[in-house]
Amino acid sequence: MKLPEVAVFDLGKVLVDFDYSIAARRIAARSTMPPTDIQKFIDHSPILVRYETGLMSREEFYSEIRAITGFLGDIEEFGSFFADIFSPMDEMIRLHAQLREHRVPTFIFSNTNDLAISHIRRNFPFFANFDDYVLSYEHGAMKPHAKLYEVVERVTAKRGAQILYLDDRPENAEAGVSRGWHVIQHHDPAASIRRVKELELLPKD
Ligand SMILES: [Mg+2]
Repeated sequence: MKLPEVAVFDLGKVLVDFDYSIAARRIAARSTMPPTDIQKFIDHSPILVRYETGLMSREEFYSEIRAITGFLGDIEEFGSFFADIFSPMDEMIRLHAQLREHRVPTFIFSNTNDLAISHIRRNFPFFANFDDYVLSYEHGAMKPHAKLYEVVERVTAKRGAQILYLDDRPENAEAGVSRGWHVIQHHDPAASIRRVKELELLPKD
C-alpha cells in the first residue's frame, strides 16, 4: 500500500473544539428567545448550512438570525458572540507542528463560515501554518459532497493514497475512504498520532 505524502485536517473537533451553546447563551442574553431555542437555529440549522455553503453572506446570516431571535445587538456584536466558541486541541495542534517540522505539506479542509475563520485566524496562531485551505463557504459545497473533495485533490495536487485525511465525522471520513485516501476518523489524539507514525509521516518513537 502506498504511503501518504500530505496531511489534510478537518478543523472542528480535530484541531479546535467548539460549543455553540456558548454563542446561544450570549445571543439569548440580548434577545427575546431562550438559549436552547437559539442554539437550534444556529447549530445544524438550514440557515447555517446555507451560510457555510456560501449561499448567504455574513450580513444576510446576521439579518436572518436577528429576525428569528429578536437579537438587539449590531453585526459586530453578533459576530463576536457567534464566533467565540472555539478552544484549542493542544495535542493535535502539536501533531500538526511536528508534521511541519518534518516538511510534510498540510492543509485545512472544513465546513465553516467567514465569521468563524476570521475569529480563528485572529486568535489561533497555528492556523497560519498550513500550505492551503479548502473552506466550504468559498466553494459552494459542504463535506461530504464529492465536489469539495475534488477541490482538495486539485489544491494538494495529490490523490488517492497520497493523501492522509483526519476528520471526526463518519460521513466525511467515509467520503475520503471512497476516494482511496488514507483516513483517520479522529476521536482520540493518542490513536491518531500512532496512526500518523504507522503511515510514516513522522518517525516512530
Ligand atoms: Mg469536524
